[in-house]
Amino acid sequence: MCGIVGYVGNKNATSVLIRALKKLEYRGYDSAGIAVYTGEEIVVQKVKGMLKNLSERITGEVIPEGLKGKEYTDYENKLALKTDDFIKGSLGIGHTRWATHGEPSDLNSHPHTNMDGTISIVHNGIIENYAELKAKLQAQGVVFKSQTDTEVVVHLLDQKYKATGDIFKAVIETLHVLEGSYALGVICKNYPDRIIAARKESPLIVGLGQGENFIASDVPAILEHTRDVYYLGERELAVLYNDHVDLFNFEGEKIIKEPSHVEWDMDAATKGGYEHFMIKEIHEQPKGLTDTMRPRIVKDDSGKPVDVFFEENKMDDAWKTADRVVITACGTAYHAGVVAKYAFEKIARMKVDVDVASEFRYRDPILDKKDIFIVISQSGETADTLSALRLAKENGLKVVAITNCVGSTVSREADDVIYTLAGPEIAVASTKAYTTQLLCLYLLAIKAGKLRGTVSEEEATKLLTELEGIPAKIQQILDGKEVIQKFASQQFNKDKIFYIGRQFDSATSLESALKLKEVSYMHSEAFAAGELKHGPIALIDPQTLVVAIASQPALYDKIGSNMVEVKSRGATVLVITQDEKAFEGKTDEVFKIPECSDTLASILTVIPAQLFAYYCAVQRGFDPDKPRNLAKSVTVE
Ligand code: GLU
Repeated sequence: MCGIVGYVGNKNATSVLIRALKKLEYRGYDSAGIAVYTGEEIVVQKVKGMLKNLSERITGEVIPEGLKGKEYTDYENKLALKTDDFIKGSLGIGHTRWATHGEPSDLNSHPHTNMDGTISIVHNGIIENYAELKAKLQAQGVVFKSQTDTEVVVHLLDQKYKATGDIFKAVIETLHVLEGSYALGVICKNYPDRIIAARKESPLIVGLGQGENFIASDVPAILEHTRDVYYLGERELAVLYNDHVDLFNFEGEKIIKEPSHVEWDMDAATKGGYEHFMIKEIHEQPKGLTDTMRPRIVKDDSGKPVDVFFEENKMDDAWKTADRVVITACGTAYHAGVVAKYAFEKIARMKVDVDVASEFRYRDPILDKKDIFIVISQSGETADTLSALRLAKENGLKVVAITNCVGSTVSREADDVIYTLAGPEIAVASTKAYTTQLLCLYLLAIKAGKLRGTVSEEEATKLLTELEGIPAKIQQILDGKEVIQKFASQQFNKDKIFYIGRQFDSATSLESALKLKEVSYMHSEAFAAGELKHGPIALIDPQTLVVAIASQPALYDKIGSNMVEVKSRGATVLVITQDEKAFEGKTDEVFKIPECSDTLASILTVIPAQLFAYYCAVQRGFDPDKPRNLAKSVTVE
């Protein structure tokens, strides 16, 4: 949630900050701001709305209407560079906001400053005890300019700085008073050579350059400058100068850690010729899946896949003795968990409970030390999922995390981590992270099945061989995407869209409906097809589109009947299936997917639904990369 950046070096900070924020805009985009020390004072510019508004505000120049695609991006870039002519200084911090406390407005935007404008901060997260701190500060005469929780931090800092005369001590003392989650960047006029940064529960990295150093919420922000980073740990601080960085714990004691080298390059974090990140990432699924499976599938001398190997795995024994798998996640990752329920039951014959993390953590869940607890989070920073992980660990359970982000909090706190090697996912709506999560869960189910003796050698080889063929089949679907594009151009004005399916397909329906809601704002819901007659069928009318997902041959007749039921009540019906013949006369449109077993088809059936969501969003004139009210990495509860 929200993006933080900071720069200390020899270049002009203004455009460096704005260009870095551009790479983080996916994290929050209801306002943006920067604070730059000019040698005399800290200049703050902040504005409601998209980042471009900030460049426009600083330069006084407006991006002409009607520019599209590359023309628009080039103009926006040029304007960002121009900001250097207006604010000069080589120390600064910046922020794109996803409001939690106080509406999106110029005043509530970050950075926030103390009353005399000598200290400035950016914050990602929520200060939970802000109300009580604010009341105390106001009683002491502090005047607040915003409605944010963040502003208490800068006034507290101001007080502690006045009391100690040392900004580092002031930061440490302030951190000890704050409750909640935060990644913070601080600059102070009296310390023009440094940025102080701290993190607790919100992500923050330090980028190590030559004669310059950076802070950022995520790697893409700094990739054009450096690939050497420190992933700040829980309750760690960094003090950045242009020529070195010191790291500390919250007690103010120095700590030493090795920098990490980021392997992926800028291409992975740019649109590379596609109009949006979402469509680029949909197309990256064959590669992401191949990268994720290649190191994990073990082959014999003849090249036949025989087993699954997770480098990070320390839990083989636990899988043999576990009675139950408990899967906890949010949003799209939760839907991957629902697919996994069917996969684990079928392949490993294990009992599975799946829960959304925000519900799980507030129940009094019944957990057994022998349960295996799986958390799934693309960013590895999802606050609800992280709390569920901690609850499981407190109860003595072993936790396996599936995440796309190396060094993320979830990856550090879990007992075992399985990385999806999807590359950075920038679009807010998850696509390639989802299918690579599914892949990891299938691999895990096969491994568990082998360890528990529910899957024979032959069956394992069959499933693994089929998995190896999945990327090519996805490519085939992508190559035929025009059919979906055309269908979207006919349906994008529909009032309601229902996804229906049975078994694995009911799980895919959940994800398909969510994708459509997220990016096109069309009202879409998912129903287990057999449930229609118990209520939802009352909603069907000629303005309804029903998308049936049908990849389970044993249930073709059943879902076929459900399709006829809605068609005869006026709905338009599309079916996504391997077997168009099975649905002749029962549907208005067919989208055929390549042959695939019913067990693994979920990785394929979701692809047309992703494409449909994307094309509907574009048809309706929305930016699918930045859906309203959403943010990529949900680090608040
Ligand atoms: N809680 C802060 C606010 O509402 C920070 C939100 C964010 O992480 O963007 O301003």
